[in-house]
Amino acid sequence: RFITFEGGEGVGKSTQVRRLLGNLAKHGIDAVRTREPGGTPKAEAIRSFILQGRSEAWGAGAEAVLFAAARLDHVSQLIGPNLDKGTWVLSDRFCDSTRAYQGLTGGVDDRLIDALENLALDGHAPDLTIMLDMDPETAFRRVEQRAVEDGLQLTGDRFEKEELDWHRRLRQNFLDIARNNPERCVVITAEQPEEALEAAIWDVVATRFPE
Ligand code: C5P
Repeated sequence: RFITFEGGEGVGKSTQVRRLLGNLAKHGIDAVRTREPGGTPKAEAIRSFILQGRSEAWGAGAEAVLFAAARLDHVSQLIGPNLDKGTWVLSDRFCDSTRAYQGLTGGVDDRLIDALENLALDGHAPDLTIMLDMDPETAFRRVEQRAVEDGLQLTGDRFEKEELDWHRRLRQNFLDIARNNPERCVVITAEQPEEALEAAIWDVVATRFPE
């Protein structure tokens, strides 16, 4: 089984991916946790290149192609081989992020996004996508709080660079993707305590894959 987690920034995806991995292990299910952009050494190199802002001037189209290059490696080296041997794969972000960020917010043509998606997936579409939904103002407060707890400065973060409106648009993009893919996507509100959210996600996974 291939499960992806999607959503805006600061909604708590990584924590929930870890928790789901733990719950699967408790039930004797083999699973691996990965993330995008990244997941393999080559894809992580592309991740740092982009997140350091080195492709910013190239535009969203070039970034969509770079993310797809990273995904090709991620799918062929990590996701595909694990699924083929029956190991579940949990990914923190996947194709929907490219559609939401570079496509819908970045203005990249749908045909390019669709083509890149089909090429990179190579038959490995997610079986289930958990869309974690949260009001961007709440998400921002969470990111801020976490930075204070970790003693970090909130510099270079998109929350600093981008307007709240941008995050609202991003949230709407993810909700639209979920509406257009009702079989695959389940929207869950992330505005609930971590344990309650973990239980809600487990409920969806256990119902969807009862074996
Ligand atoms: O999920 P995570 O916070 O690790 O994502 C890293 C960053 O990559 C995010 O801040 C997001 O803005 C950016 N990103 C992007 N386009 C994607 C995926 C992620 O701009 N397709």
